[in-house]
Amino acid sequence: MNIKAYQQINEKLQAQNVKLIAISKTKPVSDIKTLYDLGHRAFGENRAKELQSKAQTLPNDIEWHMVGHMQSNKVKHVAPFVKLIHSVDSYSLLQEINKRANQNKRTIDVLLQMHIAEESSKYGFNSNEIHDMLSTEKIETLQNIRIVGLMGMATFTDDEAQIRKEFQHLHSIFTTLKSSFLKDEDNFKELSIGMSGDYEIAITEGATMVRIGSLLFGARS
Ligand SMILES: *Cc1c(COP(=O)(O)O)cnc(C)c1O
Repeated sequence: MNIKAYQQINEKLQAQNVKLIAISKTKPVSDIKTLYDLGHRAFGENRAKELQSKAQTLPNDIEWHMVGHMQSNKVKHVAPFVKLIHSVDSYSLLQEINKRANQNKRTIDVLLQMHIAEESSKYGFNSNEIHDMLSTEKIETLQNIRIVGLMGMATFTDDEAQIRKEFQHLHSIFTTLKSSFLKDEDNFKELSIGMSGDYEIAITEGATMVRIGSLLFGARS
């Protein structure tokens, strides 16, 4: 745990109106509780089962963010309470989230994950896929989800210019979608970009939320 880093990062982000999602994957609930006791409430995990079991043992005013790739059969574990799913990367996942939200008599907020990195391993839509998906009528039949923005992960590199270019690309997709398909969507306003290594670049490129793990909790083994 690095409480000093938390306080510094949090202060910097608050001054910029950027929300900090503390990514606690693989870390014990005691670490989460430490930040909770300092007043932090937004935590993120990348596996549904781990998120579910941590949520069960921690105070219920924590808002839980799902940031990792999700298989459809895992949605049910988090559907009753999850605050935001950042990592929606297919229409079928969106359908499943809608179905589970409906069963729980709620609406679930989601971000669409865009593939902006050079690595082929990172999940997400490309611009053509997102346009195709949003231009079909069927998306409007999903009454229990709200698409509130986009998420992306930059290439893992030291090349700042490269990272900046990828975040700018995502921001331009966001602007295009907002002015076309989602122009009546007041809720479409979030850009989830930036992690421990590149959050400062993300802030200057329009992040509204950053997902930071290792700077706060230490390296993962
Ligand atoms: C693990 C993870 C993070 C946080 O990564 P750090 O480099 O430890 O800050 C952010 N986003 C996603 C999707 C992650 O899986």
